[in-house]
Amino acid sequence: MIGNVRSIIESLDVDKLSRRKLIIIVKRLTKKYNIKLRKRYGQHFLIDPAAIRRIVDQLRGCDKVLEIGPGLGLLTYIISHVSRLVIGVEIDRSFMRILKDICYYRNNIDVVIADALKFKIPRSFQVFSNLPFYITSDIIVKFVREEVPKALITVQKEVANRLVASPGSSDYGRLSVLVQCFYNVRKVFVMSRLSFYPPPEVDACLVLLERKSEPCISISSLEAFEKVTSLLFSFRNKNVEKVLRNYLNIHVPDDLRGKRVFELSVDDIVSIVKLVVSCVE
Ligand code: SAH
Repeated sequence: MIGNVRSIIESLDVDKLSRRKLIIIVKRLTKKYNIKLRKRYGQHFLIDPAAIRRIVDQLRGCDKVLEIGPGLGLLTYIISHVSRLVIGVEIDRSFMRILKDICYYRNNIDVVIADALKFKIPRSFQVFSNLPFYITSDIIVKFVREEVPKALITVQKEVANRLVASPGSSDYGRLSVLVQCFYNVRKVFVMSRLSFYPPPEVDACLVLLERKSEPCISISSLEAFEKVTSLLFSFRNKNVEKVLRNYLNIHVPDDLRGKRVFELSVDDIVSIVKLVVSCVE
């Protein structure tokens, strides 16, 4: 254990945090552990005490949490006081030593050095992440495939708008349809870029995804679903009837006649996917 780190870690009382104190802690720890921050891994630490408290409230009483990108482990440490077990998956090996030291203080934290995109999410774990923005779409597809029951993630503000977008709006697209098919999605709160150190170039939003008990489509049709939505939304302003006839060789269901692609509801798209799947079978 590097000198003084113990007192730093033990001072992480969620009720007594301040922005200034958190920035000092981040600076001290990165220096002590000789960590060089890497932009390409989206390393922006959360230093907003109000945001941290709201996250803690959301995670209070959780059983098993998988944290993607624990970084210095400050949130990991804080969360471990309100949930039974926390596993952190961190891609950057240079955080290994500090994360090991944090684990030393808590017997309910475990850390794995791995790329979260290649890591199989253990069953029934809910996910928390101050997510690096570059993996947002891929990780959400992974949540869908691996049946993650619940995920609390920070995403770029504009991406949050896409996740909750309704048919007909300019934000509505493939990602909205995919996520809304499997999850009830809620924007919890918007976070300014100044909630992070160093600040990213965009604002963020904390989003909660809760798995629907009856998803609109089965996981076995997911591949077809992704192909169909990808094709449809490459013609988002076109008439659905034409796209279906020209590219999928199927007749448009009567109730979708006259609609444009971006006006299709999640249920409309599910019915198209079912048609495509039944044609292939
Ligand atoms: N949880 C900390 C740090 C968030 S910054 C906090 O909120 O303060 C994002 C973290 O995700 C960094 O530690 C970064 O190294 C890590 N990361 C980036 N890409 C990753 C990936 N593919 N898999 C796992 N961790 C990743």
